[in-house]
Amino acid sequence: MNRLVRCVNCDEVFFKTPFDQAPEYEQAPSESPEALKTVERDDFEGFLAHHRGHRLEDLRIIEDSFGSEKPYWEPVKVSYFRATNGKEKFVIRKFRERIDEPLKYELVSGDYSLTCTALEMDWEDLLKQMRTELSEIPLLEEKIAAFLKLCKQITSTLKLETLERVAEDSAHPLEIAYRLDDVSLMYLLRNARHIFKETYPEVEAFIHRHKDDGVLLVKGRFRIELSEKAVGKAKEVPSPALLKKALEKKREI
Ligand SMILES: [Zn+2]
Repeated sequence: MNRLVRCVNCDEVFFKTPFDQAPEYEQAPSESPEALKTVERDDFEGFLAHHRGHRLEDLRIIEDSFGSEKPYWEPVKVSYFRATNGKEKFVIRKFRERIDEPLKYELVSGDYSLTCTALEMDWEDLLKQMRTELSEIPLLEEKIAAFLKLCKQITSTLKLETLERVAEDSAHPLEIAYRLDDVSLMYLLRNARHIFKETYPEVEAFIHRHKDDGVLLVKGRFRIELSEKAVGKAKEVPSPALLKKALEKKREI
């Protein structure tokens, strides 16, 4: 069972996983290569010893609160999530500086929010898919160019609030897929008719095939914005600029 424990006195957190108690096998330098000694590892015991006599409480992780600048599979990154003790909410920074380091967890004073920086379709994918599926249409390249221009015009006017999120697996926590809203879809169909004229029925079918789970989905890209709390309980209050800089530094690695 995973447990997230907070020391109220020190404002430190520990994320307890079943792995904390797994023994680690280490090779003693003086011994023969075969001789391995077992090091009993119990990081949680260490945390408890360090905070002896302090008030400890369990925090519950708030679902769907995860945000990170990097894809899920990326091992070296900074991510954030929210947790609660039932009364207060906390923001926890989870990070690792090197691939061979254990994950660290820190309470962050303040909060974070996700800001949408772009709404776009995957233009390359859309282009490829049209070339593949509509190859019979005469003067296709010209028409595709006009169609892409139309799609770009539509996506540039979209409002995030009116879009419906699609449950699509994204490898990146800051990328969310949306379906085109009905008004935009009607606009797209009507104008596609002008572009493709007599070959429009094929394109109409293409649009219907790809609007819900394909190349006509709109991808929203987000940025994590950290905001500082005026009165922080933590010893150190990292400024958003500093945290942003830390994130950028991590991204370069
Ligand atoms: Zn403590």
